[in-house]
Formats: sequence, C-alpha cells, structure tokens
Amino acid sequence: MFLKRLECSACGLEHEWSRLQNLCGSCNKPLFAIVDLAAASRTLSRERLAEREKSLWRYREVLPLPADVEPASLGEGGTPLLPAPKCADGIDLWIKDESLNPTQSFKARGMSVAVSIAKHLGATKLAVPSAGNAGGALAAYAARAGVEAHVLMPRDTPRANIVECRELGAHVTLVDGLITDCAAEISRRKANEGWFDMSTLKEPYRVEGKKTLGYEVAEQLKWQLPNVILYPAGGGTGLIGMWKAFDEMEA
Ligand SMILES: [Zn+2]
Repeated sequence: MFLKRLECSACGLEHEWSRLQNLCGSCNKPLFAIVDLAAASRTLSRERLAEREKSLWRYREVLPLPADVEPASLGEGGTPLLPAPKCADGIDLWIKDESLNPTQSFKARGMSVAVSIAKHLGATKLAVPSAGNAGGALAAYAARAGVEAHVLMPRDTPRANIVECRELGAHVTLVDGLITDCAAEISRRKANEGWFDMSTLKEPYRVEGKKTLGYEVAEQLKWQLPNVILYPAGGGTGLIGMWKAFDEMEA
C-alpha cells in the first residue's frame, strides 16, 4: 500500500488516513485518498500485472490496505469487456459486464475495498442507506469480514434486494420514505448505535474500489483508452472513481 494521506476534495485540507473518518473536518466535503504513485509504480508494472490474480486486488499498490492485511474479497472485479458489434452501427463498441461481480453489480468493488479498510481501522458496525444493490454488497462483504452490516432501506425497495441483505446476515430496517430519509436516519442514529457511515461519498474508500473499473478498462484494452466511455450514474461514485484512475495513470 502506498496511501499517503486523505485530502479534502473541496478545500484541500489534509487528514490522516489511519483514523476512521467520513468527511472533511473543516468543510464537510468528501475526502480523497492520495497515493504515492511514484512508489506504487515501482512494483505495479504491466508485466507484473499479467501474472496476478483476476480480482481487483491485483491493483493492490494503489488500493488503501496495508500489504500484510487480508482483504475482504469474494472475487470482485476482473469482469469481461465484451465486443458488441450488433449494438453499434460502425462504432467499435464494448460493454463492461459488471453483473458478473459477486453481488451482481459494480457495488461489490467499492464495498470490498471500503469494508476491508474500515475493519482494519477498527469499525465493527457498518451502516448504509440503500434502495438496491449497495445494501446487498455491504451485507456480503461485512459477512466476509466478520463485522455487522446495518442496511436502511425504503419500504418499497424491491423484495429481492431486501431478502438478499437479510439472507447475507445484515440487520435490515425498512423506512417509510426515500433513500435520503434512510441516510438521514443513519446520521441521526450512528453515534448512539456505534455505526460507521458507509454512504456514497461520505467515506473515502468506496471510490477507491470503484476506480479499479478504470484500471481494468485500460488494461483490457492494452492500455489504449477509448475515445468515449458511457457510464450510467446514480450517486456518481463509479464515474468519479474512473476519473481518479485515469488521473492516477496519467501521473
Ligand atoms: Zn474541506
């Protein structure tokens, strides 16, 4: 691991990475992990990557977890990049099939990394608001890591997502309202309950997991990035993660 520090994405204030924390202590905006890229690049070479496991932990040098700590991994990442000639009229179109992740969505990437480092920094109860796949991903990775998952879901969340969380051992609370009401309830209760808030962009490390999507697309296309990447965004962590990956690779 070559993580140097956390830095506020808005005001630039530096924070210690080794303390469990959510947002900037000064302006309450998201924190970014700053990696010593020169040091990371000494061992993270294209040649060495070719010999490594398929999971996203192949990019270990740029991920936030000390080298001697076992990650909470279920084989996430390494999803296929498929050519889609029938969907594209004269365009060289490829589709990254993220449904092949362990919890059937790209949320697995962020949670594998964020749960691993949160546990390493002492968190024992992780909470997330979710109306879909993030809850299932947290439940799976918390189970893998041996920590508690608390998932707050709107009451009208699809039943499959609720069952998935419960079957994976998460404590599920159904809330009358929207996902923003679930997030507000976590904010209200987290101090009393001892929860660490894993909400999108409210902790620094889910984006680190998601950035591996950018590294993977580059590696799978033999380090020649496409002209355009179309990316569906909800919270937008995946999009920010890919931007961060390309920024790091450029450096
Ligand atoms: Zn700040």
